[in-house]
This record gives sequence, C-alpha cells and structure tokens, in this order.
Amino acid sequence: MTMTTLEDLLVEQVRDLYDAEQQLVRALPKMAEAASSEDLQQAIQNHLEETKNQVSRLERVFEELDRPAKGKACKAMRGLVEEGGEALDGKSQAPLTDLAIIAAAQRVEHYEISAYGTARAIALQLGQETIASLLEETEEEEKAADTKLTDIATDLMGQAGNGNGLEEEEAGLSRKSTQPGTGSRRAARS
Ligand code: FE
Ligand code: ZN
Ligand code: FE
Ligand code: FE
Repeated sequence: MTMTTLEDLLVEQVRDLYDAEQQLVRALPKMAEAASSEDLQQAIQNHLEETKNQVSRLERVFEELDRPAKGKACKAMRGLVEEGGEALDGKSQAPLTDLAIIAAAQRVEHYEISAYGTARAIALQLGQETIASLLEETEEEEKAADTKLTDIATDLMGQAGNGNGLEEEEAGLSRKSTQPGTGSRRAARS
C-alpha cells in the first residue's frame, strides 16, 4: 500500500471499515439466531439495523471524499467473525453460549470503536468536519452496543452462577441438557 497524503490514509481506513461493516451485516443474523436470551437476540437485531445504516453512512463518507465506495478486505474482522463462529455450535448450555457470543461481539465492537476513533481523528486533522461527525455518529453507536452487551452479560453471569456450572433451574433451560453432569448434583462433578 503506497500512500502519499494523510487523506490517502483516511481513505484506506474507511475502505477497511466499509468491508468490516459489510462482513458484520452478514454475520450478525447468525449470532442473533444462535442466542437464547431474548435480550441478547434483540440487542443483536437492533445492532444489525444500525450496522446496515453504518454501511450507508460510510458511503456518504466516500462521497465527501469524492472517492468510489469500495472496500478493502478487512482481515482482522474476518478473523474476529471466524473465531466468534466457534461460539455458535450450540454444544454448550444456553447462558454459556450467550456469554461466548457476547465475548465475541464485544471484541468486534472494540475493534470498531478503535478504528472509527482513528479515522475520526485523521478527518479532524484534515479539517473534514462533516466526515468526522459521520464517523463519530457510528462510533457512538458502537460504544452504546458495547455497553448494552456488558449489561446483558452481567445478567447472564448471574444465571451462570457460582463458577461450578449452571444453577440447577437454569440447566433445565439449556438447549441440550444431556451432557454429563448437567442438572445433576454439583458434588458428582467435583
Ligand atoms: Fe459497525
Ligand atoms: Zn480491518
Ligand atoms: Fe490479543
Ligand atoms: Fe458494531
């Protein structure tokens, strides 16, 4: 990648984000589907709608830059999505699967917060106020999504209980309760 100006760097950053957001438009529905908690499903669905809008917002950034809206494969997001996919196999008890989905989703949000923050700083340095505020809008949505996920995780953590496994009433709610030890007395597992 040869860049000559700070604007070239901004374009590279925005192209990376454009691809990253498009990957998420494809990945988030699978995460929502794999979630058991209604709160988590709803949060992911809401963020999917926001994410579609973030793709459009980046298209406005490309317009402001007078460059074609063209992504550049974001390998980092590909890795985050691929690794997050490991949480979706449905083999773990529901609250644990949900917590693993949140763990993956928060890695994604933090990546985005970082990338948008950097891009916004470059835009400001270039005096591109419109672009900076478009990027900031998205950054705020990513931060809110991250906070929402923390809240849901805090609730689910309570359900996941004491560190030895699930509370017995929660074990009954899990998708697959046939794993050894599930729902049985804790003493049997220690
Ligand atoms: Fe996003
Ligand atoms: Zn990237
Ligand atoms: Fe690391
Ligand atoms: Fe996001």
